[in-house]
Amino acid sequence: MSRVAIIGAGIGGLTTAIGLQRHGWDVTVFERSAANSPAGAGLSLFGNAFRAFDVVGVGDAVREIAGSPPRLPAGQRRRDGRWLATMPLESLRDMRVVHRADLHRVLSAALEPGTVRFGETVEEVPGGFDLVVAADGLRSGMRDTAIRYSGYTSWRAVTNRPVELDGAGESLGRGERVGLAPLPDGRVYWFGVASLPAGTHFADEYAEVRRRFDGWHSPVPQVLDAVDPAALVRTDVYELARPLTSFVRGNVVLLGDAAHAMTPDLGQGAAMAVEDAATLTHLLTTMPLSAALPAYDASRRPRTRAIARKARAMGRLLQSRSPLRDLVLRFTPTGVVTRQLESVEGWTLTSPARVKRNGNRRG
Ligand SMILES: Cc1cc2nc3c(=O)[nH]c(=O)nc-3n(C[C@H](O)[C@H](O)[C@H](O)COP(=O)(O)OP(=O)(O)OC[C@H]3O[C@@H](n4cnc5c(N)ncnc54)[C@H](O)[C@@H]3O)c2cc1C
Repeated sequence: MSRVAIIGAGIGGLTTAIGLQRHGWDVTVFERSAANSPAGAGLSLFGNAFRAFDVVGVGDAVREIAGSPPRLPAGQRRRDGRWLATMPLESLRDMRVVHRADLHRVLSAALEPGTVRFGETVEEVPGGFDLVVAADGLRSGMRDTAIRYSGYTSWRAVTNRPVELDGAGESLGRGERVGLAPLPDGRVYWFGVASLPAGTHFADEYAEVRRRFDGWHSPVPQVLDAVDPAALVRTDVYELARPLTSFVRGNVVLLGDAAHAMTPDLGQGAAMAVEDAATLTHLLTTMPLSAALPAYDASRRPRTRAIARKARAMGRLLQSRSPLRDLVLRFTPTGVVTRQLESVEGWTLTSPARVKRNGNRRG
């Protein structure tokens, strides 16, 4: 039986562990945090994430926690609530927002008990394994590439009670944004973004959020009323300073944010980690390790690089203080926006075996 060590029990590490364990691998996940660490706020998942969860066999369990949120107008608005652009509802039919804690619970429950060794920090490549998956996030100790601050910081939370929304998506100020998205039980995943120097801190983060966003359109203040200050997650947004030239070194493979941390402006970072996990599982269970690792690298690097570039460009546009930004959003044809979404969301598992046989690439 092949043995794999996975460093990090985030979404990428857990999904990889599930996929390989279900195919008979002997899996050990090392996680530096304690078992009951808080698991953050909300998370948007698009169709590609669900297809990737299907590959490892947990798609339906994730769909269960994702439910069917109300169908609301969605897109970008100004801070006074006037819509700049809306997406056709049909194009968002597969998009869901889940609570990260729920997702971690579902993924953890899909593993054999004892698979994750909590409170264990990995400082060097563990020996005795056929494969080591470095899924240890943005600040991975398994690569040398530096990270770069995006120029903006974020606050996130899920409300402690349902709040009625009249729309979903992002509202835009000058160098500031607010995002609103409903969870299936009516609670709201809320985030705020502001252009600030890295490492800026406020004595009272919740008071800072209220100061910045209380004057915004309804129901932003009502949503903030329903946010427990202790639940607020503050994160400076970083990405990799430059794309990696390989995701593989010897028997170590990088996956998720460790491989391609990107800005969250397309809501795709976790989805890319899940796609990585699905691809790696598929390749390792259909070909020898020596062929699977280069195939993983060839499949995942171009895709994640392109998505990271798009996310960065979107972040720059949305954080822009120029009045041109609103014009760009208002006058970009809906067809262009939906085609962009499809190009991100339309991922399916590509089987290099099938590529070879059929001579053309699918997915
Ligand atoms: C503000 C913000 C909003 C976002 N919103 C979305 C969204 O809506 N949709 C989406 O798809 N993505 C979103 N993302 C991106 C998403 O959160 C990440 O891409 C995703 O969590 C990456 O998962 P991962 O498993 O690769 O890494 P992580 O979630 O970072 O997990 C890494 C794990 O490794 C552990 N670890 C680290 N070092 C070690 C070590 N040496 N030894 C042992 N364990 C270690 C850590 O404790 C951690 O548990 C957002 C990101 C941010 C910052």
